Amino acid sequence: VIEIGTPEHSVVTTCAYCGVGCTFKAEMRGDELVRMTPWKDGKANHGHSCVKGRFAYGYAQHKERILKPMIRAQITDPWREVSWEEAIEYAATEFKRIQAKYGRSSIGGITSSRCTNEETYLVQKLVRAGFGNNNVDTCARVCHSPTGYGLKTAFGTSAGTQDFDSVDDSDVILVIGANPTDGHPVFGSRMKRRLRQGAKLIVIDPRRIDLVKSPHVRADYHLPLKPGTNVAMVTALAHVIVTEGLINETFVREQGDLETFQAWAEFVAEERHSPEATEALTGVPANLVRGAARLYATGGDAAIYYGLGVTEHSQGSTTVLGIANLAMATGNIGRNGVGVNPLRGQNNVQGSCDMGSFPHEYPGYRHVSEDNVREMYEALWGAPLDPEPGLRIPNMLDAAVDGTFKGLYVQGEDIAQSDPDTYHVTSGLAAMECVIVQDLFLNETANYAHVFLPGSSFLEKDGTFTNAERRIQRVRKVMAPKAVYADWEVTLLLAKAMGYEMDYRHPSEIMDEIAASTPSFAGVSFQRLEEKGSVQWPCNDAAPEGTPIMHIGGFVRGKGNFVITEYVGTDEKVGPRFPLLLTTGRILSQYNVGAQTRRTENSRWHEEDVLEVHPADAENRGVRDGDWVTLRSRAGETTLKARVTDRVAPGVVYTTFHHPTTQANVITTDFSDWATNCPEYKVTAVQISPSNGP
Ligand code: SF4
Repeated sequence: VIEIGTPEHSVVTTCAYCGVGCTFKAEMRGDELVRMTPWKDGKANHGHSCVKGRFAYGYAQHKERILKPMIRAQITDPWREVSWEEAIEYAATEFKRIQAKYGRSSIGGITSSRCTNEETYLVQKLVRAGFGNNNVDTCARVCHSPTGYGLKTAFGTSAGTQDFDSVDDSDVILVIGANPTDGHPVFGSRMKRRLRQGAKLIVIDPRRIDLVKSPHVRADYHLPLKPGTNVAMVTALAHVIVTEGLINETFVREQGDLETFQAWAEFVAEERHSPEATEALTGVPANLVRGAARLYATGGDAAIYYGLGVTEHSQGSTTVLGIANLAMATGNIGRNGVGVNPLRGQNNVQGSCDMGSFPHEYPGYRHVSEDNVREMYEALWGAPLDPEPGLRIPNMLDAAVDGTFKGLYVQGEDIAQSDPDTYHVTSGLAAMECVIVQDLFLNETANYAHVFLPGSSFLEKDGTFTNAERRIQRVRKVMAPKAVYADWEVTLLLAKAMGYEMDYRHPSEIMDEIAASTPSFAGVSFQRLEEKGSVQWPCNDAAPEGTPIMHIGGFVRGKGNFVITEYVGTDEKVGPRFPLLLTTGRILSQYNVGAQTRRTENSRWHEEDVLEVHPADAENRGVRDGDWVTLRSRAGETTLKARVTDRVAPGVVYTTFHHPTTQANVITTDFSDWATNCPEYKVTAVQISPSNGP
């Protein structure tokens, strides 16, 4: 029994964990947060919540939070606590010195999907207008950047097509590369409810996730494909749809680009793409693939939900395009119950992308080379802007190792732990002359920082988050910033010290600027959000109430674009030295690298990451359930305990990455998506052997 006392007042705000975007009443006693109660009027959660949003808020008040700015000349020096003024002055002086010595493009910034839309907007504005380059990127680089590329290419906009409520009208639900009951629990429960009502379920995943078989839900088809073969699988599904005459011809004729459709249809119809021809590659019996394709195409309104198991591959963008092809070919776009729906990982990953966090795009996904857009921002921001795209995160690190990139401002992101090929990341960071980390805790990236600026939690600021269904919701200040400033105010201080002053008195003014300059946000304001509770973009004169479902009667780009999806196997191949394939995921109680959840009561439910190993692979290596094993790849090695289970297929091992001691990203390689550089986290060739422990 937890004694919480009687709350004295409450504030409605939005969860800072996953992309479902549940709203809560934060209940306070004095300055202390005593309870998070799911908000019954929350449009994304309708009064429901999971164990993260409800119980894992203690990190915000954790004793390990750093509340004083710190600086040091060298990363081997001890930290020295200083005033805010001294820290900001030091950081700005260093950045200006670096630019004077190495050039305008020698510094950059990384925005955070944990921060608000307004904060993200300010960081990219500081980089573009204050630093004078486009070296800004986001942690979406390592998760859903292929979604941005793929959906924009196919449909014309970089976002999911449906609202969450839409699933209540689905007859068929296809889940590929996602584990909604653990990763997006409130929506996962919603999906299960629809399945209990009779909707059919197709799961495409190397692992037997809970949805495949749980007490009340069974998948009609589980296609346990080998990691790295998503493109072959979606093309095989398309082959069945085309060759068996299951195309929705009316939809394609009216809304599809017929030229690209024709080329695509001829491509997928080739015998080499049939389920039989690709069975050895994917490892999935052809009859299952045929059955799943027929169900998706003919079972009624069919919706696709996907996650990082789709995007974090060398062909992540190709798989997104393949999924879009399936939906367009069968007419499953533009109404309730259908659609293509990325399950966004972090609370504001959609928003961080919307706000122009990519080195090639301004807010609203407009390319930096578009003269009219750039000129509009030059006038609005009062600074000349670079028409050339800047560096992505991996390119910044490459340039740092090469000696041409020297300074980085990282807001609310821990690239030393969350990005792939840890040795490469830390080598890049160590080669820089000034790394500024703005965060709640001394994270792994801070080991390479020269300036540490205390961050603020979601409870300490005003702003907005945008969830996976494009729903913009208010984040409301529940308590005063513990380190004096909210994150957006810190960016203003840094900008002013750099000589580029930005003047806002409240985040609502930042949103007003976003609305004035971004067509899809033109109707968004804090006042509108107070009146309506939330709104889904596009929200403008054409859609004053917002847009729950996109592409009704036609695509944003005009005609739906079919793109050929040629399978190209990853360079990360199994062989005698590394005969197993490692793939990764999450569990319900924990979140990403665990920086927040490990500092809460939720740590009781997950004390360590374990490695799931199939019984046959375990027996071959003399490994029993609970034994320590060494997990090795070409990139590195780590040690963790084995869990022997047939949830994974022979030849596949699986782990979570919530604990820093596991260092799962020491194992992962630097292979990445061909279009976006999203890392290939989901496929690593490994070996395991018994160990005595770490
Ligand atoms: Fe928070 Fe996601 Fe859980 Fe909702 S489902 S409470 S948004 S972590």
